[in-house]
Parts: sequence; structure tokens; C-alpha cells
Amino acid sequence: MLARVLKRVSQARLIDETIVATTGDVSDDAIKQYCQERGVACYRGSLYDVLDRFYQAAKLTEADVIVRITADCPMIDPAEIDRVIQAFLDNEADFAANRLPPPFKRTTPIGMDTEVCSMAALERAWREADQPYQREHVMPYLYEKEGRFKVVLVDHQPDMGHLRFTVDTPQDLQLANEVYAAFGGRDDFNLQELLEQNEKHPKWQEEVAEIKHKNLYDTDQRAQEQADSEHSQPNNPTRKETGQALCPLCGSSKMRLFEKTESFGFPVDYFLCQNCGFVFQDARQSQAADPDFYLETYRKLYQANEEPTSKDLYQQNQRALNQADWLKKNGYQHFDRILDIGASSGLLLDTFRREFQAEVLGVEPGNAYRALAEQKDIAMFSSIEQLLESDPEGFNLVTLMHVLEHFENPIQVLLQIRKRLLVSEGLLLIEVPNFYAHDSYELAHLSCFSEHTLKEMLRQAGFKVVLLRKHGLPRSKTLNLYLTVLAKASDEPVIQTVQPEHNVPLKRKAGMLKRKLLTKLNPEQTWLPLEGKK
Ligand SMILES: [Zn+2]
Repeated sequence: MLARVLKRVSQARLIDETIVATTGDVSDDAIKQYCQERGVACYRGSLYDVLDRFYQAAKLTEADVIVRITADCPMIDPAEIDRVIQAFLDNEADFAANRLPPPFKRTTPIGMDTEVCSMAALERAWREADQPYQREHVMPYLYEKEGRFKVVLVDHQPDMGHLRFTVDTPQDLQLANEVYAAFGGRDDFNLQELLEQNEKHPKWQEEVAEIKHKNLYDTDQRAQEQADSEHSQPNNPTRKETGQALCPLCGSSKMRLFEKTESFGFPVDYFLCQNCGFVFQDARQSQAADPDFYLETYRKLYQANEEPTSKDLYQQNQRALNQADWLKKNGYQHFDRILDIGASSGLLLDTFRREFQAEVLGVEPGNAYRALAEQKDIAMFSSIEQLLESDPEGFNLVTLMHVLEHFENPIQVLLQIRKRLLVSEGLLLIEVPNFYAHDSYELAHLSCFSEHTLKEMLRQAGFKVVLLRKHGLPRSKTLNLYLTVLAKASDEPVIQTVQPEHNVPLKRKAGMLKRKLLTKLNPEQTWLPLEGKK
């Protein structure tokens, strides 16, 4: 049924790109699998908050106009989809549909339903809609109140609102099978042909006449329970706790507990994705995924106060010199504009500005660190969003030094960097702890990267790896504590099958064992001093 819907949608002239928005529930793993095999973009989101799922999927495509087709319409006519989109465009509407629930009269056959909206209107609905039925049925907020948005209802002449060609029940499915049989397996019949066949088969509509179409205000009871339980968590009301945890790399909900640890007095659990081998914290449980966390708490926890320590500054300085050196050795002598995300006190930017004669900007949420960077005459922003609001020119190099592992949704951050911050073919320099040598487990480390999973994540976000090195500098000469990657933004399709990594527990064990042995056998080379000689 999904294949038929996808095929029919792809035949609409006015649709550029299709994305399947399904849930993170295990029961939908088959859908993800199917999409992966067929190269169809697929987003997995909340089981109950369908508006959120739909909005997040739409955001990934970066489209200005979004068309919603439900997957229970295997007989939908592509021309009908185009007709609604055209009406939306002609009327410069915020929302257009070929049916609206009562009191509006339905004139389009059930099963041809098409809804079109602008991304701006969808975003507003996503932000403002707070009733369970508005979240479950996705679009009510856009049309239910007169004057809120410019709404266009596209009628069908003559009135065919009583005909039913959707699949909600076993009787519906039987009808769909009979219709397809009547067309001898043909997959491209249009609404006109369907109506003609329907005339010849009066039994068809009798079979499904008893079914009352789901009322708009019927909502999934589970959604209400979920909403109630959210309200009973006053400590963190802004974060959505709906649905299941999903692997940040492949979107699967199949995972097992990998390690139970503790960090700064907080319990910290890491999960292993059973589908792709990625190791991560469930961001919805983690303290560190709270947006306020980084403003003050993070640095305080890590450094006992908000000011950077001399050890910290020494490490950052050494790291900056080491990175500049590596880039230069590989032929990169100059960059026009460089952005460092998670810029801390601006040491890397200060070095890169000098070494590459670059104009530099930084993003740093920590207040005290950002102030220090500003003292070095570096233009600083407290978040990527704030930077984007200033409508910056494109950057030739974006750097993320020990930052990617902190994001709740790293792929989305990488996509944003590629699409909105980098110039075409711009470069991305990333360094993260290497899960097979670095302890990695820390409250604020939501993801644990290996060479394989880091590469896969970059590929998912449309980057091509240009250079990769494993090394321990400035901390160690013998252990490959870090993974450093230089990647180039490409225009390849962004959502592809994730190649799984195998034997993750074994590789982790071997890495930690090696670390122990080298620490014992060769401590001087394995752990270099934290500070230079004064
Ligand atoms: Zn995964």
C-alpha cells in the first residue's frame, strides 16, 4: 500500500521531493526498512504527536510548501494532488485542501485527500497548537478558526463526497483489492477511470457503506495519557517526552542498554543501537540535553567554576596549533571565513585567524567563555540560531572541536551547517573522542563515535570525508584518543541507508584493555602532562 501511494505521489507534477513520516515504534521498523531499500527518505518521530512528527519531517526537506498525503490512500489520483497544490499557489494561501471536516461539506471522494500548507504556517501550528486532536490530526490548527490563516477549500464537481476509496478497515482493503483486480493490476488508473469502474461495480460502495469515517475529535487515548504524564514533570516542561528513544544515527528504536555509569553525580545510561551499532544516551533522559544546561551549569560542573582553568587553556591552545599544523601539512594555507561552533574562549579562532589570515566568528553558549572570546575581538554568538538570525555570509570552514558529541540531534546540526552556514563545497573540521580509545562516558557526551559511525553520520548529512586521522595529541603519543575529520559539503541526497558497525562491544573492550596496558607499560608517552612547563 505504501509503495502504491509513493508511486502515485511521485507522478504528481508539482511535487519535487517525498519523505515518509513514520514513528519510532518497533512496529514501524518495517517501514523504515522498506524506505531504506527503496531509497525513499524516511523520518521517524513521535507516535502520538503527529503534528510534531510531520513538522520535523517537513523541516528536513527544507521545502517552502508542504503537501500532506496519508498512506491509507492507495488509489489517490496524482492529478487531484496537483489540482489542490495549484489552487494553493494561485490563491497565495496558507493552507489548501480538497476536503475539510464538518460543518464543511465533503465533495471529494474519500481517499483523494490532499492538504497543502506553507512551511511558515506549519511552523506556527507546531508552535501554538496545544489540543490533543490538533496534534494528532496535524492540520486542524490551520483551518478550524476563521481568519487565523488564508484557507482555500477545493471542491469537487460534481459532488462525490459519499464515495469511499481509502483503507482503514478490512472491508476497505477488500474493496481496494477488487479495484486493483478490476484494472488487471494496472497501477496508473486515474480518478475518472476509477469512477467509471465504480459505476460498473455497484457492490463496491455497498461493502464499505457502513463505515463511519473517523471523527476529527476522536484522538488516540494513548496520546492523552502521554500528555497528562508530561504535565506531571514540572522540572522540564519544555522538552517533549513522547514516543520512544531513537538512535540518533539511523533512527531505529531497537536498542539495548550498553553501559550504566554515573557522571558528576547523575546516572548516565548508554544504549547500543541494535540496527547500526551506534552508542548513545537517550537524550530525553539526559540532563545534558536541556538547552539551559550549557549556559552555566556545564562549565561549572566540569571546571568547578565558570572561568576556564590554566590547564584548560593550555590544552585548547595546543589543540589549536596541532590542528592548524595538520591542515597546513595537507595543503590548506588560507581560508576567507571561519566559524567555530562551541568556540569556548576563542583560542582556536585566535590561532586560525593568524595562521590562515581568516575572518573568524564563533558560537559559544557559555557566558563566561563567550566574554573571553569577545575580549580577543572575535564576533561571538550564543547559539547557531542567533548567528543565523544575523544572516551571515557563507563560511569556507566550519569547525566543531569536541562539540558534535554534545548535540541531541547531531545529524540535524550537520545538515544545518551544510545547508545554511557553509559556502558550496565548504569544509568542515570535526574532532570527537574516539570510543575505542577514549573513556568517552561523560554526562554531556550524548553520542560516542567510532571512525565508522562518525563517517556514516557525516554521509547522512551530505558530507564527504576528505581527510581522517586518529591521534592522541595533545594528551597522548600512544593512544588514538581522538578522531579528526576534514569533510567537504556535497550535494548528494541526504538520507541513505546506514551501514552498520559490527562487534562494537568487543572493539570497545579491546580498546579499553589497550589503554590500560599502555598506561601501565609506558606511562610517560601515554599520558603527556596536562600543562606545559612554566
Ligand atoms: Zn542506529
